[in-house]
Amino acid sequence: MTQVRNPLTGEIDRQLAPPSSDELAATAARLRAAAPAWRDADRAAVLSRFGAALAADDDLLAALVADTGRTGESVLERQIVAGMIERWVRQAPDLLAAPEDQAASIPGLVIGGDVVPYDLVGVISPWNFPLLLGLIDAIPALAAGCAVLVKPSEVTPRFIEPLMRLVPDELPLAVVEGAGETGAAVIGLVDAVVFTGSVPTGRKVAEAAAKAFIPASLELGGKDPAIVLAGSDLDRAAAAILWGGTANAGQSCQSIERVYVERAVHDEFLALLVEKAAKVGLTCEGGPIGPLIAADQAEVITRHLADATGRGAVVHTGGVIEHHGGGLWCRPTVVSAADHSMALMTEETFGPILPVMAVDSADEAVRLANDSVYGLSGAVFAETEEAARALARRLEVGAVSVNDASLTAMVHEGEKNSFRLSGLGGSRMGRASIARFVRRRSHLVNRALAADPWWHR
Ligand code: NAD
Repeated sequence: MTQVRNPLTGEIDRQLAPPSSDELAATAARLRAAAPAWRDADRAAVLSRFGAALAADDDLLAALVADTGRTGESVLERQIVAGMIERWVRQAPDLLAAPEDQAASIPGLVIGGDVVPYDLVGVISPWNFPLLLGLIDAIPALAAGCAVLVKPSEVTPRFIEPLMRLVPDELPLAVVEGAGETGAAVIGLVDAVVFTGSVPTGRKVAEAAAKAFIPASLELGGKDPAIVLAGSDLDRAAAAILWGGTANAGQSCQSIERVYVERAVHDEFLALLVEKAAKVGLTCEGGPIGPLIAADQAEVITRHLADATGRGAVVHTGGVIEHHGGGLWCRPTVVSAADHSMALMTEETFGPILPVMAVDSADEAVRLANDSVYGLSGAVFAETEEAARALARRLEVGAVSVNDASLTAMVHEGEKNSFRLSGLGGSRMGRASIARFVRRRSHLVNRALAADPWWHR
């Protein structure tokens, strides 16, 4: 039985209670059977009701806070999800409308069509934003007319029960607790799967989906670079990068995890970053940085920092795992003299660590930023928007914040694909996201009275 640790106290205060495989199969069958009626229902009204209930529910918020140990991000997370539901309610009808009939290139033939949702979509999600990442794909799938089975992380299961209390009877959504085994079982029960999590698990999910012959949409890890060129507003760059690298204690896929700064402004930038980082405290002392949610992360952070300092990197702030009230904490940690021999610059750390490396030119910054197995997102700072966007076009990533950092956390409307090992499949963000949950069926209509010239006669 999987034990659930409380990130604030370090205590095991809950046991995971996954469904048996029969119970899971029965849930999937119930959802699948509900899909046709859901397609005919007033989906907008039901989803809006769900969104309003979720936005106002304090039990859900309390459970999210208990799951993650942090309050500010949980309030924001619930707010973002409620906004996202309303956005899909507004956008879905247009995006799902059957195409207008139009003349084909062959005279007499007309092309029309309709849109066919999958019956049952599976969602498997991680622990860093339990509610948001459990629902970010579930909502467009539901809006498209699919039933949805969600399996969130075993690290953060407390929000599931209060969330399920808010699900209207007509909404074919089930959220079940469980660990990897339950996630693997979900893949065998659904018609399409969306996975958010680490690269190694993503590979397993992709393989299982291929065996089941269902589409898999994968949103995986990252090692987001930020580039700061001479001529940038350094104070702005330092403030934005500090937020982008340390919000949610760095436990975000789109966290800035490495910073390349042109040598001419490196020292000034570093001094600003260190000065600002030193002022950002932990939530247990009134600051914004919450505890590490998953205890394993402390080991990764410690290993990456030890490796980096062993190879000549210098830690200016933070740099150690602190123990407060049983929880594990890490202050914003600025590291200089970093280079690509260090795991800190190449592997995902998932902590509030900002390694900074001096570069000789924009070209070197781009080369190093692209020297990664990941390609999730990145950030660029330059004197003009034009220069920054020229840099953005050269980064092998799916989204670039220009003169800001980690904006994909806040803006979900921009379409983006994950490059390299950061993911596979259509865009999760923007209007295209819903296309992952439907198939398009063409109606090829012959309105000509004459026989087709290619028929056998
Ligand atoms: P993880 O891969 O360990 O687990 C993710 C989910 O997969 C969990 O629900 C887990 O129970 C389930 N799982 C485990 N084994 C499975 C299997 N064999 N089959 C099916 N499901 C299985 O990831 P994590 O530690 O929970 O999350 C952190 C990772 O998620 C980081 O790498 C982070 O970058 C990534 N992430 C990516 C995005 C994105 O949008 N690209 C967003 C958030 C987090």
